[in-house]
Amino acid sequence: MEQNLILEVFASKYIKVFLVYNLLRGYDMYTLVYSITNDENPDTVYINLTNACTNACIFCLRTQKDDVCGKEMWHDDDYEFEDIVEQFKRYSHCAKNVVFCGYGEPFLRKEMMKKFCKYLRLNYPKIKIRVNTNGHANAIYKTNVAEEFKGLIDSVSVSLNAPNQDEYEEICKPKIKNAFDSMKDFTKCCKDAGIEISMSIVTGFDKIHNIDVKKCEEIANSLGAKFRNREFITNGY
Ligand code: SF4
Repeated sequence: MEQNLILEVFASKYIKVFLVYNLLRGYDMYTLVYSITNDENPDTVYINLTNACTNACIFCLRTQKDDVCGKEMWHDDDYEFEDIVEQFKRYSHCAKNVVFCGYGEPFLRKEMMKKFCKYLRLNYPKIKIRVNTNGHANAIYKTNVAEEFKGLIDSVSVSLNAPNQDEYEEICKPKIKNAFDSMKDFTKCCKDAGIEISMSIVTGFDKIHNIDVKKCEEIANSLGAKFRNREFITNGY
């Protein structure tokens, strides 16, 4: 599955054209590690492992802009582990938190993420590690991925996005079956693995109407998760 999605990204004409365009403009082709403050000494740095995703959320930033705080986010997944380490070194003196959160679903590069988590645990044991995820990992790999990451990540933020399957389909347009239940199951598995969990929804986007926020909060709480209602911001940050 991981390879198929990488191929899907690789084959995208849009991305190829975009990468060439960036190259011509002199941008770094691979933003793998970034901060959202443009600060030289950010507390939190973000890892952009992939642009592939098993959702196509109607509010996804990927459909609205190409950069985060001026950092071009598109890439074709054709990078090495050492490239992440190299880009991370720029922030290693100041980073207190590392968040896997890119223009895509980080668990689609599960092994790369695991390798980098181990690297962080070994070399920077004080750094807290979080993953922002759509929660499809167990369904994608048909195994308990949460258990694989026990002790390697401190927390996950799962995109709940809707109070039921029908609205989830409408808002997230998942490419896998039973995505809503799978996402909730994955959240529960993270909890069981001792990983701190939170769930979020997005409100204020013009195509999302009358979402039952209370019901979403109840779902999060029933799974033992903190709840976060994120107001949609046009530029994302
Ligand atoms: S889960 Fe995240 S990356 Fe995937 S489509 Fe939704 S907002 Fe975009």
